[in-house]
Amino acid sequence: MGTTLGMSQTPKAADEEQRLAALYRLNLLDTPADERFERITRLAALALAMPVAAISLVDRRRVWFKSVHGMTAHEFPREDSLCAHALNVEGPLLIPDLAQAPQFALPRLAKSGRPVRSYASYPLHAPEGSRVGGFCVMDRAPRVFDHAMERTLRDLAHLVETELQISALIRAQSMLTTDLDAVRGQLLRDSLTQIWNRAGILEILSREHARARRNRERLGVALVDLDHFKHINETHGHLIGDRVLRTAADRMVDAVRPYDAVGRYGGEEFLVVIVEHEPQIIHSVAERIRHNISSAPVTADRRTFALTASVGVACVEPQIGSDIRTLVQAADDALYQAKRQGRNCVVVAA
Ligand code: GH3
Ligand code: MG
Ligand code: MG
Repeated sequence: MGTTLGMSQTPKAADEEQRLAALYRLNLLDTPADERFERITRLAALALAMPVAAISLVDRRRVWFKSVHGMTAHEFPREDSLCAHALNVEGPLLIPDLAQAPQFALPRLAKSGRPVRSYASYPLHAPEGSRVGGFCVMDRAPRVFDHAMERTLRDLAHLVETELQISALIRAQSMLTTDLDAVRGQLLRDSLTQIWNRAGILEILSREHARARRNRERLGVALVDLDHFKHINETHGHLIGDRVLRTAADRMVDAVRPYDAVGRYGGEEFLVVIVEHEPQIIHSVAERIRHNISSAPVTADRRTFALTASVGVACVEPQIGSDIRTLVQAADDALYQAKRQGRNCVVVAA
């Protein structure tokens, strides 16, 4: 193959399918201009004193330039492109004068107004080794390619390959991070109610606590415990008890603002982080939670019964050295008071 190709043929590499798979894994075809590659073609044109420099990727039926300097076209049909032919040549392809190399006389290229006369390219490999394209330079005049030019071309091609490798690594890492985020998200979620679990809500509380301390703002915590839940379990069974927990969680999420967070702290006890500086607003959010839970009877298995909850609230302006444990303890003490005061009420810690 190589230099004896007839121009009517569309050259195909022996490992064409594997090569294309590697090309598609790069995720570079038809992506917008990227300065990382633009600067290499710019540099190539300057260093080699060639008017056109391009990073070509050879697709199934076309050649697409990831970056091209000195030419406006961004793709060519594969059969009209010297880069597609370069793919089948071992090592660099150097054509000092196309007029003297009839085997490369591409008809459409010759017909264009200012035909290319000289061409040099160095193969580009995907990180796993397949040839995906070439780093090429062109001129409308015949040129002599000496060893120094060939070496510079090779160095620049290697630079492009390094960039391809970096892109692949970044993509692999971001996929891993997305997967980890999903796994981590699942670890912090309560499977029954789909709100935050204890670890999740405590993590949010720590962050909001630190933020409030930095900003010298107050922060509210509400502990919500369903009233006489043992009785619901005993009367209607554990499965209906579970369904009531889901309903209670939904009603709490509906009662708070988008930036507040609701978590299942334990059994039928919930912790709500109320991101708010004004004590009256913290209190009103807590009151809305209590009200929403009891706003309508719960219906399960054709049975209907009332549901209420008691709420203990603590609101503090976190100080240096203060921790979330004392804040949750204060809310718990207030919750105990709410139970003692007859349940279905909100008590705010002193
Ligand atoms: P009080 O008004 O004083 O809070 O009365 P209570 O009956 O709710 O008392 P307590 O909070 O001590 O009881 C909690 C009960 O919640 C005990 C346990 O059987 C039940 N529980 C805890 N986790 C679950 C759960 O995941 N599903 C169901 N169905 N019940 C649960
Ligand atoms: Mg209870
Ligand atoms: Mg309880």
